[in-house]
Amino acid sequence: MTEPSPDTSASGRCLCGAVSFALTGRLPPVGMCHCSKCRRVSGVGSNAVLAVRRERFAWLAGQDRIQTFALSSGWSTAFCRQCGSPAPQPTPDGARMWVPAGSLDGDPDLSVSGHIHVASKPRWAVIRDDAPQFDEAP
Ligand SMILES: [Zn+2]
Ligand SMILES: [Zn+2]
Repeated sequence: MTEPSPDTSASGRCLCGAVSFALTGRLPPVGMCHCSKCRRVSGVGSNAVLAVRRERFAWLAGQDRIQTFALSSGWSTAFCRQCGSPAPQPTPDGARMWVPAGSLDGDPDLSVSGHIHVASKPRWAVIRDDAPQFDEAP
């Protein structure tokens, strides 16, 4: 277990607490993907992730508890092997980490940057913010 640094701006963890991490600096906005894959792994109308620069992300515990599932297309999801909560994972270029917004502790002041794959959104999932919407990926 690593202690968060003094300039930590947010922290997060999975439901069972095995996986935890800290973020530093200004938090980026939340992006939401409504594609069928993100819907299936989240169980709701979209995912909600922050793309955090790699140097602003630090594991505190449990990186070895994370399992990744990848499709041949390159799409992948990471989750805690113990409780199934979505877990952070690197973006394909490795420059950032996808951080599940719902895993953050407390209620950080986050805005929504946009919605992608809105054409795949089920009708019952209603978008109530003014962020840009894209039928597929921009
Ligand atoms: Zn867990
Ligand atoms: Zn998606």
